[in-house]
Amino acid sequence: MDHGLRRSHLGERLTELEVEGLVVTRLPNVRYLTGFTGSNAQVVVAANGSAVFLTDGRYGAQSSHEVADLPRTVYRQGYPQPLVDACRTLGIGRAGFERHALSYEGWEQLTDRAEGLELVPVGPEVEHLRRTKDPEEIALIDRAQGCADRAFEAVVLGGGLRESVTERAFALVLETAMVEAGAEDRAFDSIVAFGDHAAEPHHHLTDRELARGDMVKLDFGARADGYHSDITRTVAFGEPDPRLHEIRDVVAAAQRAGIDAVRPGVSTVEVDAAARSVIVDAGHGDAFPHGLGHGVGLEIHEAPSLRWDGGEELLEGMVVTIEPGVYIPGLGGVRIEDMVEVTADGRREIPRATKELMVL
Ligand code: ZN
Ligand code: ZN
Repeated sequence: MDHGLRRSHLGERLTELEVEGLVVTRLPNVRYLTGFTGSNAQVVVAANGSAVFLTDGRYGAQSSHEVADLPRTVYRQGYPQPLVDACRTLGIGRAGFERHALSYEGWEQLTDRAEGLELVPVGPEVEHLRRTKDPEEIALIDRAQGCADRAFEAVVLGGGLRESVTERAFALVLETAMVEAGAEDRAFDSIVAFGDHAAEPHHHLTDRELARGDMVKLDFGARADGYHSDITRTVAFGEPDPRLHEIRDVVAAAQRAGIDAVRPGVSTVEVDAAARSVIVDAGHGDAFPHGLGHGVGLEIHEAPSLRWDGGEELLEGMVVTIEPGVYIPGLGGVRIEDMVEVTADGRREIPRATKELMVL
């Protein structure tokens, strides 16, 4: 990963924003700009691309090899004074801070010590840079998805769904299989929803036991070197209610339309509409209450957001999910989700796990 190049891209943007530097306190942004993987750190980046990395005493040794290319401050007390000092070291008199990341208390503490330093609220500029992935990032997302694909094949296609297994127990089996396939961890709390529980888009695990005729909605992901993957498959355990077959066909057609709409230059609103209109035309518009998808990278949910509002242009190198769903209270629900890379001439679907309806 070329962290120095990322810092110089940020620096160019800071010049446009008329600030001399940015105090970066959001951890995924610090990781993006420096490669640091620990749980507490900051980086101050000047408009010329130079930077100072800061962390606490727990991470002195770790940061010495992860962030070997930057001057480092390892503080034991007095935070956030070291941030102000880093600005001075870099010759920054007018510093941006991440307005969406700093708490009110954090802002008070910073301004208390900021004598002579002008602080300017700045929006999600690093998140903006993170929207388009370089080939190394795409390779890690592919690797993470490969772990999830192998877990799906081993556990779901391999007969792991059995009568009376609970949602909670099955989630653990799936997550263990991802780690056995090489993931460093799961990407997020898995969603395993049996039967009518699948009517909740973001169901929390329960001890409900699997029964014949249940639809099974599985939304899960793996993580590789900090990069996430995200996939949803809905399968049937025994022959489900015929209405769920119909809903499944609608969701599959909507997902196909959404994926086919992905290409550079198209608006996220158009992609959402391409999928949503299939569901609306089938009479289920009210049963699809969420956006179509989201970016995936160092965070499981990141920019861009694919929704019916707030459109932005898709760019080559973005990785987004396409995940329409239809949810009917008392009956169940179906969601199908895949990550798609926006390529120069269109799109590439990342998972290889089958999405044909399987009656297990
Ligand atoms: Zn998901
Ligand atoms: Zn998702």
